[in-house]
Amino acid sequence: MSILLGCVADDFTGASDLANTLVKAGMRTVQLLGVPRKGLKVPEADCIIVALKSRSNPAEEAVTMSLAAMHWLRQQGARQLYFKYCSTFDSTDKGNIGPVADAMLDSIGADFTVFNPSFPTNKRTVYKGYLFVGDELLSESGMRHHPLTPMTDPSLVRVLQRQTRHKVGLVQYSTVVKGAAALRNAFDDLRKQGIRHAVLDSITDDHLMTLGEACADMKLVTGGSGMAMGLPANFIRQGLMQAGQRATLPKVTGPTVVIAGSCSVATQGQVALMRKDHEAFELDPMAIASGRDVAQDALDWAGKRLSEKPVLIYSTATPEQVKAVQNKLGREHAGSMVEETFGKIARGLVAKGVRRLLVAGGETSGAVVGALGVEGLAIGPEIDPGVPWTFSIGEPSLALALKSGNFGTPDFFTKAFKLQP
Ligand code: ADP
Repeated sequence: MSILLGCVADDFTGASDLANTLVKAGMRTVQLLGVPRKGLKVPEADCIIVALKSRSNPAEEAVTMSLAAMHWLRQQGARQLYFKYCSTFDSTDKGNIGPVADAMLDSIGADFTVFNPSFPTNKRTVYKGYLFVGDELLSESGMRHHPLTPMTDPSLVRVLQRQTRHKVGLVQYSTVVKGAAALRNAFDDLRKQGIRHAVLDSITDDHLMTLGEACADMKLVTGGSGMAMGLPANFIRQGLMQAGQRATLPKVTGPTVVIAGSCSVATQGQVALMRKDHEAFELDPMAIASGRDVAQDALDWAGKRLSEKPVLIYSTATPEQVKAVQNKLGREHAGSMVEETFGKIARGLVAKGVRRLLVAGGETSGAVVGALGVEGLAIGPEIDPGVPWTFSIGEPSLALALKSGNFGTPDFFTKAFKLQP
């Protein structure tokens, strides 16, 4: 198998977001959780994304991890490489976007790449090199208080310049609207001036399509998930891929369970709606803390109901309830206890024959996927913006819908059941 696009993503949910964008643009996409072990049978794909957990690691570690992922992708024949980071350019002055991009460029012997985190659908835009989140500059948005990567400078040129010894330049909106040829000329001009990194403006998806077209021959492109939007069309134009490719996805049969460990507003609504006409088991963090084997209780409860319609196992609670539990157990401890319990439950459910799992919550999804030992996912149809059905690689194949807490409409679960692969 020879792939067209090989992507290195600096976190798991970011990788899913990128995967979703590429599938919608017609690429058969596989997402791997880390560099795969030798012998893992990866399904036929146009694009492979290696999801790392490198965003907040020290720069040297992030570089080593990213290069390992990139080398593996090159061995798979990747024609073009993509480095995916967050749409809010999450990084500190010491890390990681500049160092990783530099190391990737050096390793492939290239001397120029572009940077663009914009994602207009989610209201991230770049104008004159300044990153906006909604109507606010990045530095005035909630990102200034981020616990790991506080962003206090909205100028991407300045932020990136502090992360690299190479020169950083800017291609402005006024050039972007002139089209792909003008952009390519601008890239050449910057390169002649010894500039190796160009931040790109973009405000709409149309701009992103133009940027993608201009980057058709670039060996390495970097950006959020939006910047990748225009790349699949290049492969179609070059005759390397047909439009509207669909992956052959495994047929999955077996009972369905919803696991909700998110307490976000959207999940609260989704849980309340599902409880109206489905059986549900509520997980009590205090019972877990008391030493009770709550995972076993949940499995015994579910065991009797699995042949019927989908069931719900949830710890979703109101902010007041969560606060009360956290006051008694500590925030971290409560969180990890609940996550671990869901991991055990997921393993037990699969042992009982469950083959479709919908999981609400970013951390909860990570815990479930980790407990199940999932190594990779083929990306299927989208249920709601940003949340596709996915299929685990290996045996048995599981259909997984992994939803970040605040995503999806109130009837998300029912929609997912209807679309059920
Ligand atoms: P989201 O995507 O909404 O942020 P996450 O799964 O990432 O959801 O995070 C939710 C966190 O809250 C997890 O660590 C989970 O274990 C924890 N949690 C879930 N239910 C409860 C509860 N009832 N009390 C306290 N903590 C909880």
